[in-house]
This record gives sequence, C-alpha cells and structure tokens, in this order.
Amino acid sequence: MTVTRTGRCMCGAIRFEARDEPFDVTHCHCHSCRKHNGAAVVTLAGYRVEQITFSGADRRHYNSSPGVRRGFCGDCGTPLTWEGDGGDLGPIIEFHISTFDEPDSLVPTAHAFEPERIAWMEVADDLPRYEGFPGEGTPLRHGPK
Ligand SMILES: [Zn+2]
Ligand SMILES: [Zn+2]
Repeated sequence: MTVTRTGRCMCGAIRFEARDEPFDVTHCHCHSCRKHNGAAVVTLAGYRVEQITFSGADRRHYNSSPGVRRGFCGDCGTPLTWEGDGGDLGPIIEFHISTFDEPDSLVPTAHAFEPERIAWMEVADDLPRYEGFPGEGTPLRHGPK
C-alpha cells in the first residue's frame, strides 16, 4: 500500500504530495537550516524528487551553498524545502516537517550536525547524534549530553 502525504505553505499557495515513505526524518541543528527557519532546530523529511508533486504557485529559491537551494513561498514566506544532490539517491527534496498537513507519522530517527546545536537545545530522546549527515560515520553519542 502506498502512503501519500500532503502539505502546504502557510497561505496555501504552494501545495505538495509526497508518495511512499521518506528515506529519512532527521532533526537538523546546522546554522543554515536554523537561519532559513528562524528556529532553534528544524526537522526534515527527505524524499527522492520523483516521489514529489507540487501544485499551485511555484516556490522561490535561495541558493544557500553550492548545489543546495532552499525553497520558500514568495507570498507568505514559509520555508518549505532543502533541495540538492542526495548521492546514490539522486536529486532529493527535504521538507520542513510542519509543512505537512499531518506530520505525526513522520518520526525522526537521528540528529544531524550536532556540533552546531544551540547549547540549550537538548532533546530528551535516545537518538544518535551525528557530526554531519546521519549515516556518515559513527554517531558522536546517543541521547543528551
Ligand atoms: Zn504561502
Ligand atoms: Zn541543516
């Protein structure tokens, strides 16, 4: 059975459908994600581009680093995506979790860019904390410091 999840920006001008499961759901503590969202930590669900269909208005993009662009709504300003090269996965789109209409079933499995975490932003879970992207190298540790 194929799961299809829907999402949208705050004003609803941009909508999307995401088919099947994401390849990962991760908390990201990196400076760029935090800056793009104005948030202490962001949570992203990553998909291969062919799993995604957008409708409505086109998203606007900001190139935040070489090969990486971040999508947002030009009307309401909602930060929607991280878009770039997923290596073996091909081009990928990661959605900020609260752009989904029902994010409850998208459960995080790791923390990324732990060294960039805001000092007081500890989460009381036992998930692995990675120096960079999840799965690259061994976790720095599991759980809070
Ligand atoms: Zn919008
Ligand atoms: Zn990040």
